[in-house]
Amino acid sequence: MYLDISNISKSFQRNDEQSLQALKDINLEIKEGEFISLLGPSGCGKSTLLSIIAGLTKPSSGAVSLDSKEITEPGPDKSMVFQEPALFPWMSVKENVTFPLRKKMRKHEQEQAAAAYLKMVHLSQFAENHPHELSGGMQQRVAIARALAMDSGLLLMDEPFGALDEQTRLVLQEEVERIWLETKKTIVFVTHSIREAIKLSDRIIIMSARPGSIISDFKVDIERPRQQQDMAKLEEDV
Ligand code: ADP
Ligand code: MG
Repeated sequence: MYLDISNISKSFQRNDEQSLQALKDINLEIKEGEFISLLGPSGCGKSTLLSIIAGLTKPSSGAVSLDSKEITEPGPDKSMVFQEPALFPWMSVKENVTFPLRKKMRKHEQEQAAAAYLKMVHLSQFAENHPHELSGGMQQRVAIARALAMDSGLLLMDEPFGALDEQTRLVLQEEVERIWLETKKTIVFVTHSIREAIKLSDRIIIMSARPGSIISDFKVDIERPRQQQDMAKLEEDV
């Protein structure tokens, strides 16, 4: 699915009657099947932009459209993974994955979808367990399986590995990369790690704060990240 973000601005009303401009004039076109990373310091509006794309937050002005259709609310055409897995603790792993599918398909189809996506994130043997029985990294994999099971063309990920240790992060990075290669979904991935962005995405958007805007938009050159000097320079720039 392709995404057209046009003149998005967002202000939040604050208690002291002043408003805070979180995003100013964001313009961005994301092609079908593109894996882009949004990068920038804390508070530059990455989560706000993702939430607007997801239809969870209304922009103050501007519009986002998905395959030329304006996004005004959440829907099955887009799915989101947050920094915290946000699973239902009283449901089994399998039930967490099938929950968003309950109005979309028959029971046995839900079961098939859950089995397929739990296999994709290597959790088949944990289908009947409850979230508290799993590690943080495994819970995040359940959240990824749940988002994938919706089978939307657009996957939004907001610092999905931010709360995980380095080792788990590396494993999940590889899984997301493999899933993207297998499914060819359009992915918008928020991170504040330049290394992660270079490793995973084919395009990087860098934002800055006050007010949140895009300061750089470039394609990732596969050869470049192998050169440590360039990496160091990029890290300085962010
Ligand atoms: P990031 O994800 O890049 O860290 P956010 O999108 O979370 O940034 O926040 C951007 C700015 O908007 C911050 O200054 C934040 O405090 C403010 N903000 C975000 N959500 C709200 C909200 N619901 N109400 C008021 N201010 C908000
Ligand atoms: Mg954020």
